[in-house]
Amino acid sequence: MITRLETTDVLVIGGGLAGERCAIEAAAAGQEAMILSLVPPRRSHSCAAQGGMQAALANCVKAEGDSPTVHFLDTVRGSDWGADQEVANIFAEEAPVAVRELAHFGVPWSRVKGGRNHYFIKGEAVDIDEAAENDGLIGQRDFGGTAKWRACYAAAGTGHAALYAIDSEVVRLGITVRDRTEVVSLIHDGSRCLGAVVRCLRTGKYFAVMAKATVIATGGYGRIYGQYTSNATINEGTGAVIALDTGIVPLGNMEAVQFHPTTLSPSGILVTEGCRGDGGYLLDKNLHRFMVDAEPEKQELASRDVVSRHMAQCMRDGKGVDSPYGPHLWLDIRHLGEEHLRTKLLEVWDICRDFAGLNPAEELVPVRPTQHYSMGGVRVNKDGEAYSLSGLFAVGEAACWDMHGFNRLGGNSLAETLVSGRLVGRRVAEHAAGISLRADTGYAFDALAAAEKRAADWLKRSGNGPSIYDIRDAMGETMMHKVGIFRSGDELQEAVSDLAQLLDDCDNAVLRCKDPGVNPELAFALRLKGMLRLAMTVAMGARARTESRGAHFRTDFPLRNDEEWLNRTLVRWAADQPEPSFSYEPTGLIDLPPGHRGYGSDERIEMTQSIDSYNESVLDEQARHGRLASNEDMGSRLSRGAWQEFVH
Ligand SMILES: Cc1cc2nc3c(=O)[nH]c(=O)nc-3n(C[C@H](O)[C@H](O)[C@H](O)COP(=O)(O)OP(=O)(O)OC[C@H]3O[C@@H](n4cnc5c(N)ncnc54)[C@H](O)[C@@H]3O)c2cc1C
Repeated sequence: MITRLETTDVLVIGGGLAGERCAIEAAAAGQEAMILSLVPPRRSHSCAAQGGMQAALANCVKAEGDSPTVHFLDTVRGSDWGADQEVANIFAEEAPVAVRELAHFGVPWSRVKGGRNHYFIKGEAVDIDEAAENDGLIGQRDFGGTAKWRACYAAAGTGHAALYAIDSEVVRLGITVRDRTEVVSLIHDGSRCLGAVVRCLRTGKYFAVMAKATVIATGGYGRIYGQYTSNATINEGTGAVIALDTGIVPLGNMEAVQFHPTTLSPSGILVTEGCRGDGGYLLDKNLHRFMVDAEPEKQELASRDVVSRHMAQCMRDGKGVDSPYGPHLWLDIRHLGEEHLRTKLLEVWDICRDFAGLNPAEELVPVRPTQHYSMGGVRVNKDGEAYSLSGLFAVGEAACWDMHGFNRLGGNSLAETLVSGRLVGRRVAEHAAGISLRADTGYAFDALAAAEKRAADWLKRSGNGPSIYDIRDAMGETMMHKVGIFRSGDELQEAVSDLAQLLDDCDNAVLRCKDPGVNPELAFALRLKGMLRLAMTVAMGARARTESRGAHFRTDFPLRNDEEWLNRTLVRWAADQPEPSFSYEPTGLIDLPPGHRGYGSDERIEMTQSIDSYNESVLDEQARHGRLASNEDMGSRLSRGAWQEFVH
């Protein structure tokens, strides 16, 4: 039974891989943990992840020589030097542990087959003999932007397998899960987070949960791009919204939005990068492999930002295939053969047949780039603790930890959810063990009353105001067409004006259904303003960043500018302010100096400051922007210069 005020040690908002892994760690350390989720945890978006999870295991011939250091290098280059290098380094070291732990939890990893194996590399058929002693080890496939085959996979249902295994562990530990609940605001006293206000989606009733530690694990904000996203309909960025609404906690790098090259046209359902990793290639309307011209070295396996841009340009140049839903390109995986498709890419086989009515072993697959991943999110320190508000943590796609910078590498997100879930979960447990829950319950009841008033105000409105669904659709059109793969100052300015208008419209919108209980229209109305505010932080952040870095590409500022923009955007939005306020902190301690990524353009504006002098000010500057102290000294895990032996 739900009562109006509940307590727990650790409150985890989100039942995807990151939230559940974090809760497991806290519960295993003896803390009482409660998970809240919009949907039953196994339906979280993590379940849709397909192609793989990166970890330097070096289990097959094409992975020989791999190591956490090589993984670190790939991740930093992939991020276009936007990542916090210390976090990227910790992540790369811990990812192999996370993969093996999943095997222990029951994930049926696809395995190496000793002896002769038939692969496709850069479009060519190749036979490779895998060592007999490696037979049965966790298999690895190629992915974009990596020097080695590193993505561990369970056919093309990696997220499904991982989430079911992790959720079984949650059940085994007896962790309380409240599904069909939605957190609508955080409870805090200005310096300490005290829990959250929750709306029960079954009844429409509100309750508060006070906790020693609160963790935001709500996934990404892809749905601000409306229908132009591969994300589930529940990925509305509500975790980022509740942090932004505090007016205290900043979001990081919101303008860093990833577009995935291959989603099925027109539905937008993802077709994994594993297709290209396993040897699939892209064709224009003349059946020409344009990526070979554009990126002779990495071809279809350059990073996602680079491939998506080449695809968008190809279609702008009139080489897309016309369709009633707009132009698309082709993904050719016919040569992989039915047996390969029905085993190693089973989910792709099913998706093509069920959602496009085509047989990918015989027919070309229509694809185009679509919004896919949110690199931005709640800005946290190395421990996962949010800036400026003690006791609030964030993990997974909801967080800006920040190992992805301006472009995430494929397979690095699943790995992040489990690595950060484990590491941050440990810190959360330590935090909860070190404090008492003694706090003024008045903060909870005030926050509850404010939330209830918001819902009542929506229901009271009458007249013929705009529909919330029209506002949502208009937001999606603006974001895709003016804050998309290619961005310019003029279009971004238009986007900011459009969004300001939509925010006004939202204040006048009227609901068709006035039921206070189970009412999806009301539930969405309560999210809409927050989504528009998030969209505004993306558009304004992109307008301000006058350079191109990773997925943020400005046609009017096409070069990466390390002299002026080797920094992270922070955005806060006080409730009484019409606009958000922006500030910039150093990206983090640098070990690998900024350079060429190995794909994409090599032209850039170089920094003139020395790395040592940049690094000297990083810690103080970040603290000045709200970073709370972390448990270890920053930089203690960054083994300086280890990368040099891998760079020739
Ligand atoms: C189609 C697809 C395929 C992908 N494939 C891969 C891949 O192969 N490899 C890879 O590394 N990455 C992949 N990704 C990315 C990866 O799946 C996600 O980044 C990752 O799973 C996010 O996990 P998470 O735990 O952070 O969030 P999610 O899994 O999105 O979970 C969020 C949770 O928060 C809950 N929630 C949200 N808002 C609230 C609220 N207000 N109150 C209460 N609960 C809330 C939801 O119910 C859900 O339980 C893919 C992404 C997509 C879209």
